[in-house]
Amino acid sequence: MQFKELALNKPILKAIIEKGYETPTLVQQQAIPLILERKDLIASAQTGTGKTAAFALPILQQLYSKQDASKKGKKIRALVVSPTRELALQIEENFKSYSRYTNLRTTVIFGGTSFEPQKEQLRKGVDILIATPGRLLDLHKQDYINLDYIETLVLDEADLMLDMGFIDDVKKIERLCPETKQTLLFSATFPFKVEALAKTILKDPEKVEV
Ligand code: AMP
Repeated sequence: MQFKELALNKPILKAIIEKGYETPTLVQQQAIPLILERKDLIASAQTGTGKTAAFALPILQQLYSKQDASKKGKKIRALVVSPTRELALQIEENFKSYSRYTNLRTTVIFGGTSFEPQKEQLRKGVDILIATPGRLLDLHKQDYINLDYIETLVLDEADLMLDMGFIDDVKKIERLCPETKQTLLFSATFPFKVEALAKTILKDPEKVEV
């Protein structure tokens, strides 16, 4: 399978080609069409399989093809929740490089660092927000973040997120997003607590295993 067959818009394809990607990885081949159909997804994929692009590309594709000029950059439309700062930064970098020929804006927020630069970014407006759970809820409480317009929510490395004790935060974040959102859950392993979380928050999910 080729990237061309995945029905991605030109600016996104151009960025992928420039990165030197030739063919979609297995998880990308399976996940991208399902995400574009707006299915909820439960995906088992380790780091290194191309899992970040597997959710980033179809999210960018959906946001890019449904841009409302009046709302541009004013509303957060996709939210990716990550357990750690390092992973959050990597995800941000991926989104930024795949969207470089679009006007979609990505920003990242995480704990353990000062609030002001993150507040400034949020004030400017973002389409895609990457966040660790604690800082996300903190900035939401301070009214810097409105989750009412989220179209797609991604929980990345869900197993690690639960191991780190973020279960209540993750559930709270999920409830703050609209009922109509699409939810994508990525995890390297599927212990009972991840299965239980998936059961409570995903709607009729498709399964992807690589
Ligand atoms: P990830 O599993 O998301 O951490 O990605 C692992 C690495 O694979 C990253 O450095 C990506 O830039 C790279 N990558 C992702 N998709 C592809 C692809 N289709 N072809 C080549 N490299 C890729």
